[in-house]
Amino acid sequence: MKFAIAGAGVAGSYLANMLVRRGHEVEIFESSTPQSHWPVCAWGASRHMLEKFSEKAGLDFEQYILHVGKSLRMDLPKGKVEYLELRGLVTYDKHRWEHDLMKGAEIKYGSRVSKETFPFDDYDYVLDCTGLHRTLLPRSKDDFLIPAYEYLLEGVKGEEEFYTIGYEGAKGYFWYFPLGDGRGYMGAGDVLKRYQGVDEFFERHPEAQVVKKIGRPIRLAPPKKMEPFFQGNVVGVGESIGTVFPMLGEGIIPSLICCDIFLDALGQEFDSKQYRKKVLNYFDYYDDVYRIVRLKMDGKLSTIRHANLLMSMYRHMKKEERRFGFEISLEKMNRLVNAL
Ligand SMILES: Cc1cc2nc3c(=O)[nH]c(=O)nc-3n(C[C@H](O)[C@H](O)[C@H](O)COP(=O)(O)OP(=O)(O)OC[C@H]3O[C@@H](n4cnc5c(N)ncnc54)[C@H](O)[C@@H]3O)c2cc1C
Repeated sequence: MKFAIAGAGVAGSYLANMLVRRGHEVEIFESSTPQSHWPVCAWGASRHMLEKFSEKAGLDFEQYILHVGKSLRMDLPKGKVEYLELRGLVTYDKHRWEHDLMKGAEIKYGSRVSKETFPFDDYDYVLDCTGLHRTLLPRSKDDFLIPAYEYLLEGVKGEEEFYTIGYEGAKGYFWYFPLGDGRGYMGAGDVLKRYQGVDEFFERHPEAQVVKKIGRPIRLAPPKKMEPFFQGNVVGVGESIGTVFPMLGEGIIPSLICCDIFLDALGQEFDSKQYRKKVLNYFDYYDDVYRIVRLKMDGKLSTIRHANLLMSMYRHMKKEERRFGFEISLEKMNRLVNAL
């Protein structure tokens, strides 16, 4: 079959690799130029999952790891502090990883696709992997985005571990994700756009040098709120259809899982019903997590009234502990929910 992939991010680059491997014809359209193409992301994810995806795509994930986390410190409102034991959370060279995935595929850089001008009929399927933009699919009235930006820093001294600040009312969080050798991503996502922690970090680290400032909002609306997944021969895969864990704004692994669901639904023909059903089924609990986040943001979350919702989130996360790459503890989760 002949595929066009719009967007060379996580989903687009992985799908290009896997489709070429299966003998399909693939053309990738990426709006950035080769010089400006850069994954806007803090590059943190669980090595357990990325090892598997990399292996399927013919890459050795060890070669991309920048920092293996041991613990994550989370500062909370009213001076509280929580530490999470890390069980596989790493930062990795996402830029090189995505580029290596696409070796052998045809990439048209500097091509910003649009619904109005794209030659849809030249392809059997057009995959909308434009992430946040969802360029080739209709907008969803239930979409929800959180503004975010970050700095790529170097020369940072004394920050060797993952560090976050959780904002009151779960309105977002600040992060510092180390990339090794004094490099790291420091930034924040915040509904209120206050980005607490960013200025303070610069004050504490006058030695830090800014290499890049990048940003874009993160989609928190889960797949259930991001239909339709299709239009004509366009199929949405990845963040374009909401595959982001809403509590963390974490979309690398969920987008790759979505790619595998797409690949499973692709036999001689693409089974759109199977794809839709499996996406909604797999990401079903993201809807619960999203409800928790929105209730908390609106000051309406009650640990008694919403106990079932909270337990559902805990049970699912616990089952997928390796996929998250950090300890999932009921005690700590309750403390976090109460403290925020
Ligand atoms: C600041 C920030 C930090 C984050 N940190 C993490 C993290 O540490 N861990 C984690 O798991 N998740 C993180 N995320 C979320 C994660 O990066 C995304 O959910 C994930 O990359 C989504 O993958 P994707 O392939 O669907 O989209 P993307 O990776 O966003 O790729 C979309 C691609 O489409 C291209 N594009 C867009 N419009 C067009 C167009 N019209 N034509 C052609 N090309 C187009 C873009 O240039 C881009 O290359 C972060 C997000 C942000 C914004």
